[in-house]
Amino acid sequence: MSDTVPESEPVPARAPAGSPNAPTIPFPKRRVARAVAIDELAILEGLHPDPKTALDYTTPFELLVAVILSAQCTDARVNLTTPALFARYPDAAALAAAEQSDVESLVKSCGFFRMKAKNVIACARALVAEHGGTVPRDRAALEALAGVGRKTASVVMSVAFAGEAFAVDTHVFRVSRRLGLTLGTTPRRVETDVVALVPAAKLRHAHHWLILHGRTICKAPTPLCDACPVNALCPSASIVARYLARKAKLRSAAAPRRGGPAAAAPRRARAVRAPASE
Ligand code: SF4
Repeated sequence: MSDTVPESEPVPARAPAGSPNAPTIPFPKRRVARAVAIDELAILEGLHPDPKTALDYTTPFELLVAVILSAQCTDARVNLTTPALFARYPDAAALAAAEQSDVESLVKSCGFFRMKAKNVIACARALVAEHGGTVPRDRAALEALAGVGRKTASVVMSVAFAGEAFAVDTHVFRVSRRLGLTLGTTPRRVETDVVALVPAAKLRHAHHWLILHGRTICKAPTPLCDACPVNALCPSASIVARYLARKAKLRSAAAPRRGGPAAAAPRRARAVRAPASE
């Protein structure tokens, strides 16, 4: 999925101070009541009743490779990359026999292309050697493949096989915390808390409800709370409002005042420069 964190790294609760990705809006300190959490999720479900992955794929093999390529890359970029890759290597057997340099050139635009090329080839070889060239459905077998962590396995299980799995990417992590569904500071904790709120049959959709909400409304730097259908229930709505008010106040305090010293400075500069031009 897009904007994903690497499978091997936990999602940080807070990026290092000064980092361009550092979230500056605090998360709620308490979880909402279970009934409120269920209502929040029901609203998101109503907004996205039949969600689909944004990754293009036609087989579980293609989805698995696309998800591996999507780490720290957008779905749109992956979708531009995979047609040529799958035309050349349509299945696990073909990819297992690929030259790494050729795969690298095909996936270069996805970033981390050496590691990703190495992983998808190693993954394809394991599929051929241990699974008859097919993608396994169970978590343990998926997570044993190169480049596949818990999140990628969950996406493949839920999207390719309609399995009961809930993948936590950076959007799911952020939106779940803002909604007060969890106080978890690791993807695994967030997964455990959200899974406890969603009926098993709907679990594979819950991932998309939260991702789509995060991409369209509950955005990372500035959530669009005024346009958010969950606003009345969300404990972050007031936190965000206070944050934006504080930010506006700081911005106006820092702006030069009309007629003030900062505004007068250019006039003084012109006055000093004038004799020199004569
Ligand atoms: S009210 Fe704001 S913080 Fe809460 S879910 Fe909506 S956009 Fe996100």
